[in-house]
Amino acid sequence: MQDLSENRVLIYIFGASGDLAHRKLYPALFNLYRKGYIKDHFTVIGTARREWTNEYYRNNVLKSLEELPGSFNQKFSFIQHFHYQSHDVTDSKHYDTLRELGESLDRVYETQGNRIFYMAMAPEFFSTIAEHIKSQNLLSDTGYNRIIIEKPFGRDYETAKALNDSISKAFDEKQIYRIDHYLGKEMVLGLLPIRFSNPMFEQVWNRKFIDNIQITLFEALGVEDRAEYYDHTGALRDMVQNHIIQILALLTLDKPEKLTAEALRAQKEKLYEALRIYPIKEVAKKFVRGQYGSSDIPEHEPAYRSETKVDPNSKMETFVAGEINIDNDQWRGVPIYIRTGKRMPEKQTRVDIVFKASDQIFDKPADKTIITIDIEPTEGISLLINGKKIGLTTDPVGYQLSYHHSAEQLAEVLDAYERLILDVIKGEATNFSHWHELEATWHFIDVIREYWDNNAPTDFPNYKSGTNGPEAADQLLKQSGRSWVYNPEPRTKR
Ligand code: NAD
Repeated sequence: MQDLSENRVLIYIFGASGDLAHRKLYPALFNLYRKGYIKDHFTVIGTARREWTNEYYRNNVLKSLEELPGSFNQKFSFIQHFHYQSHDVTDSKHYDTLRELGESLDRVYETQGNRIFYMAMAPEFFSTIAEHIKSQNLLSDTGYNRIIIEKPFGRDYETAKALNDSISKAFDEKQIYRIDHYLGKEMVLGLLPIRFSNPMFEQVWNRKFIDNIQITLFEALGVEDRAEYYDHTGALRDMVQNHIIQILALLTLDKPEKLTAEALRAQKEKLYEALRIYPIKEVAKKFVRGQYGSSDIPEHEPAYRSETKVDPNSKMETFVAGEINIDNDQWRGVPIYIRTGKRMPEKQTRVDIVFKASDQIFDKPADKTIITIDIEPTEGISLLINGKKIGLTTDPVGYQLSYHHSAEQLAEVLDAYERLILDVIKGEATNFSHWHELEATWHFIDVIREYWDNNAPTDFPNYKSGTNGPEAADQLLKQSGRSWVYNPEPRTKR
């Protein structure tokens, strides 16, 4: 049996007092510990501006585990692996302290010099940290060195390139893990098995049979306490450039020879090259933006512009819908509709693959065949196929077949952050974005952003909280006689 305790690693977390560390990283590390993937030979150096003691830090980590299963003793022994060092990212001397602490913990935990540097801080610090990691010799000579970068990776192609250039001075491409947590979700990982291990799907997954594809990432929440970030970012950069385009790629790329990081990336890059970059005058026809107003109960759900720390005249979009085209033989002419927004009727991530109608031989036309892949909150797949209506008739009628993983099954598997952190520990890069992918996706996004920035919206806010977004998002499909498959009722309460 594999000795799981052999995952030896020292993890530096830059931004150890932040929201991401508290809500995602500590729980993920604890679950990896609880499930035995990291054990005796891992240690964490948390670092942030505040002057905390180890004890204070450990209690802070412990608090982040409150909701998780596991005994107090297990949690208590887990937090003993955590060490804190206060730090100002611009002060070189602080990196010397971090190096010395790292070297001594390497010896105590016998981590064999394996190091992960987790950037859980605002992106403007990434370059400075990466440069200091190199100049102050935090890189190990004996084990591996890997850096994990959170989104957003740049604001556009130029800033992404500048960021990449500076990180590349300290880390080569193979050592850089750009995290997109959607790529760690169970059903996103399931897209390739669904496509490539079912001949009945594999044969029809192309322009000859598919009418359109719809990708929806709906959030029920508003901007909450992330306004400072969001009001400078918007839905296009926050959700489309990364999560939606990654899902689109997995749905449409050619079959890789093998499921290796290199083979998959090669297919993704090929696909991105075929993404149609719209001439600027086409953007208004192909992309729709929205910003939420209040709900019918404004004191419960204020308009975006009335949220704390949002500019009261903000022109930032909280909703995007668009049509994406892929100019290759497999997909030419198949629109891929995408949609994401805040304050939607419910939280929902799903994909609908809508097939072309068969030639009609029945008096009553059949429904279109649809494959729906539910990514969250439920995880599974449904097929809408046609069968015969029962009784004295040959009319076709829709049959819904579905399979969803149970909550018990899902409780046993690693969640997205757990899986992706474990991937980094193992050096498994398949579910991370390569720089070439980012280059291509930013080029695609930049044209839309440029058009929007130069043509301020005049109708914001243009959708009510708790609804499916602006009317124009429906028109986008209606103009070619199509409609969104997923069309939830407006939400009437929070
Ligand atoms: P945050 O503001 O809650 O935390 C920032 C951390 O950086 C704090 O620990 C703070 O002490 C530290 N810090 C700030 N300035 C510093 C300095 N000069 N020297 C040393 N430490 C300093 O931010 P967050 O929400 O945890 O986000 C961290 C990163 O993760 C960002 O890149 C963000 O875009 C990304 N991200 C966050 C989330 C989330 O849910 N919070 C989701 C996806 C991506």
